[in-house]
Amino acid sequence: MVNFLIFGPPGSGKGTQSVRLAKKFNLMHLSTGDMLRAEIAAGTGLGKRMSSIMSKGELVPDEVVIEMIAAKIDSTRDKAGFLFDGFPRTVAQTEALGRMLSAREMKIDSMLVLDVDHDELVKRLILRAEQSGRPDDKDPAVIENRIDVYKAKTEPIIEYCRERGLYEPVNGVGTIDDIFERLSGLIKKYV
Ligand code: ADP
Repeated sequence: MVNFLIFGPPGSGKGTQSVRLAKKFNLMHLSTGDMLRAEIAAGTGLGKRMSSIMSKGELVPDEVVIEMIAAKIDSTRDKAGFLFDGFPRTVAQTEALGRMLSAREMKIDSMLVLDVDHDELVKRLILRAEQSGRPDDKDPAVIENRIDVYKAKTEPIIEYCRERGLYEPVNGVGTIDDIFERLSGLIKKYV
């Protein structure tokens, strides 16, 4: 198995690119954001508890997403590897993922980081709100909070991965196809 983190601030295009990459390279795409939204859509107790946190642009508790990911790792079959999208989002989640993978004789092979400047991010999220109807994209204050939370809690993971030789920056500005080619070129080195 070859396992990748796709990384970058909200609006950097992780979700869009992950769906395409997963298809091309037969990877299991695991998006904690999508899993949480599915819980909300299904009206589960967990979904109800998480939705107010998400609508403020805060992070849900580490244990919640760690448990979701563990269950998916154990139920995945016939894939070349995992593509983690929107997880991990804290250093504690990163350490938990490392432990989960090593207990199953796996590891993270590379961290693909999409670089997109702040103004472009805000522009994309506002546009996405019109198309996707995601409540956390509608309010500019919530968008700014998500970017702040990313900087404070999530960005430190880059240094953690850089120290371990996993960091691969990718220019996240351009057409969807251009960025897909850049990411595919990096993934090809591993598969
Ligand atoms: P985006 O990258 O556009 O912010 P996501 O779909 O990845 O969107 O996440 C949406 C929201 O779900 C986050 O703002 C957060 O509230 C919650 N969330 C998703 N993944 C995690 C995670 N790994 N840890 C904590 N909260 C998460």
